[in-house]
Amino acid sequence: MSALCACGMMAPIPGWGMADRKQPGKFSREAIWYTTTPRGVLCGICPNACTLKPGEVSTCHNRINIGNKLYSIAYGNPCAVHVDPIEKKPLLHFLPQSRTFSIATAGCNFACLNCQNWQISQTSPDKTTNIELMPDAVVANCLKNDCTSIAYTYSEPISFYEYMFDTARIARNAGLKNVMVSNGYINPEPLNALIPYLDAANIDLKVFDQDLYLKLTGGKMQPVLDTLVTLQKSKVWLEITNLVVPSWSDDLAMIGRMCRWLADHGFREVPLHFSRFTPLHKLTQLPVTPLNTLLKAREAALKEGLKYVYIGNVPGKGFEDTICPACGKAVVERRGFSILTNHIQNGRCAFCHTAVAGIWNT
Ligand code: SF4
Repeated sequence: MSALCACGMMAPIPGWGMADRKQPGKFSREAIWYTTTPRGVLCGICPNACTLKPGEVSTCHNRINIGNKLYSIAYGNPCAVHVDPIEKKPLLHFLPQSRTFSIATAGCNFACLNCQNWQISQTSPDKTTNIELMPDAVVANCLKNDCTSIAYTYSEPISFYEYMFDTARIARNAGLKNVMVSNGYINPEPLNALIPYLDAANIDLKVFDQDLYLKLTGGKMQPVLDTLVTLQKSKVWLEITNLVVPSWSDDLAMIGRMCRWLADHGFREVPLHFSRFTPLHKLTQLPVTPLNTLLKAREAALKEGLKYVYIGNVPGKGFEDTICPACGKAVVERRGFSILTNHIQNGRCAFCHTAVAGIWNT
């Protein structure tokens, strides 16, 4: 996949293969979270706990042991750069209609069978077409493109943690917001270090079953639940996405259990997006998610007391309108990534004056 440059002034960098990345260089940074063990360097960022001998590349394709030090190898070297509406992340209760400068490098710490961005997530930075965009240049281009925030997105930002972390700190000082779109598969210490610089996050909760989680993603469910709880208790604005994959995550009883867990753990005000699956990557034999399944999932979530439940990837039907949980009126009507009407005033429904959870203004 080619790098797309939103600012139109940076050309893709030819070459820069794995041999270049196996020594400290332009796009390598020593990792922040790792320890040295007799078996190699142990990465502390995510529960995969990669232990790498010299020359070995991590599960997320984004880290290498060079001389018994752990290096991130796509620092300042994104393969995707775009300006997006914030609604695309999806974040529907966070600075509506604002523009977000979105970046990704190759790599992911999951291996989801249904990955929608597998061309960049399930590969390594030497195999994608990249540009040079160091953290200060990301911030400069974000400002230049009239964006309110920087989104770390598309692939898995946890795999390019150092690039995200350094960029987020500079962005915060420049008055910009930071948004993470992630699988949530991160250890508590690096998450807690990042939280002070984050303003919003959308976290995927892939399926509500430990065995299926492992089979579908290659990762465990509990660390993701822990991340959700940590973010929900922080000041970071949180929304959750559940991609409803036929025969994997579409069991309505299981969806009901997931929604009950969310309701019981303080997530009633957290928007939940049920997203329609389209056949991709290793699940091309499956059909798209039937609309009826998505409608029933939404019904189950509302029944469990979740207040803001959306259906994504079904355009033109009003399934992403925000409904006031008190009076039932549509307070924000959307079509695609555009807003048709907005009846939220000072964070409240203009019809009945009930507070609508969200960050509605800068
Ligand atoms: S972030 Fe990457 S290198 Fe670190 S433990 Fe996770 S998969 Fe391994």
